[in-house]
Amino acid sequence: MIGNVYQTVCPGCNMGCGLYIREDEEGALDVDFMKSSPANLGKLCRFGMKLHQHYSKATSMVDGKEVSVEDAIKAASDRLKGADVTMLGVGNTTNEESLAFSKVADALKTVVNTGMGVYSQLPTECHPTVGVGITFDDIESAGRIALFVDPYVQYPLLVRRILAAKKNGASVVSVGWKDLHLADENRYIDPDKYESELGLDSKSVIIADVHPNTDPGWVKRMLNLALKTQAKILFMKPFVNATGVDLLCKGTGQKGIPEIMDGINEGSIKTLVTLDSDPVELMPNSDVAAETLKKLDNLIVITSRDSPVNKMASIVIATEPLCAKAGSFMNVEGQLLNNSGESTTGIDAMSALSQNLGGAAMDYQELHNKVLESIVQKFTKPKYKELACEVLDIGPFEEKKGNLIYLYNPFMWFDQSDDNDFVMVNMNTVNKLGLSKGGMIALTSDAGTVNMRYRVEDMPDGLILTAKKLPVATGWTTIVSTEAV
Ligand code: SF4
Repeated sequence: MIGNVYQTVCPGCNMGCGLYIREDEEGALDVDFMKSSPANLGKLCRFGMKLHQHYSKATSMVDGKEVSVEDAIKAASDRLKGADVTMLGVGNTTNEESLAFSKVADALKTVVNTGMGVYSQLPTECHPTVGVGITFDDIESAGRIALFVDPYVQYPLLVRRILAAKKNGASVVSVGWKDLHLADENRYIDPDKYESELGLDSKSVIIADVHPNTDPGWVKRMLNLALKTQAKILFMKPFVNATGVDLLCKGTGQKGIPEIMDGINEGSIKTLVTLDSDPVELMPNSDVAAETLKKLDNLIVITSRDSPVNKMASIVIATEPLCAKAGSFMNVEGQLLNNSGESTTGIDAMSALSQNLGGAAMDYQELHNKVLESIVQKFTKPKYKELACEVLDIGPFEEKKGNLIYLYNPFMWFDQSDDNDFVMVNMNTVNKLGLSKGGMIALTSDAGTVNMRYRVEDMPDGLILTAKKLPVATGWTTIVSTEAV
């Protein structure tokens, strides 16, 4: 075949599934399996299979006009000089680009926010365990697994590891929003009863997750459960290199994305620079996020994709597609995964930006060496970091109000289209509302009404689960009224 074949990693979540992206001579992309990939052994979930649809080409722009990348860098440098700048890089790109971004932050005398505000609320001694959890192989040898995520929807390739553990004799308890077929027990219990009722011990593994909208109290609760039961823990994450950015360039005084949005609304943040991080996609309500971003004086977007934030940016600095980049990623178990791409457009752009701002020049090899020194030498091979903190004070449990609940998943984080376009309800709700087979359910909140197809699941009464972003949702949970249409 004429064209390019890139060995790369799926950016859908922090599993780090390896795959090939094939590009033909017309530039059309396709996905191929990579059997030698350590995280996924050649398998891909629906998001990974549709990855070619996720790729889109960014265009360098200044104030809505297409320009060369050099002109975009120059305009960005002029607007950033002397400005009070907030920077956001959640880990949707390589370690090397993330490190380059933190050097730009140094030149601006600021820090990179990874958007995971939860870290600033946790003692630093437990950061290594939250950042790099138990390895996938260790999951397979667990005696008992407590699931606080829905792996089918949220982190699909985890399912294989859990099924392998079951084959090896593990029992699985799920504490989630709906019954999971792979669980031996599905429990809907008060969080204060987790320790006494989940039957966890030192051979157990807890699988939870952290993301930009995670409640810090919830993470503390999970850490306490691990500490009190001696179970090991794994926090899954939604971004391919969330672990890499956490280890490499998480600045002190971290702000989460919701706090950054609050800062923009309050007027304390006037200039935002993002690296492959689109708040319109990442916030629960895209329309509200877009309105917030319009309040900025300067929104400078460095990106490889054409995502919604580009349309409202004052400046877009376009970089090469993720698969074409030279660089590496670190997955959630601490495995360093390399891209076969050789392009350094993004790094060269950030080097030019840094120099224009009085900072250092950078080149790919120097950044890559730094990655190897900083993380690979410390994490030579994935290994669980035992929790080093004391039991944390979490205060009383505050139940979130709302009956419409987001099941975050790769399609949702990236606002990608998905055929699974329905909400989940139980049979009681179907009967109570008189929903007809093949009919729709109308959901109404303060933000409007939407009609959705529905699917019946075993789950608690009155709840509505969605794996798709809905315009009626105002947050992680939303109060909605329902009727049949
Ligand atoms: S979305 Fe996650 S689980 Fe699915 S293929 Fe990509 S990395 Fe793997």
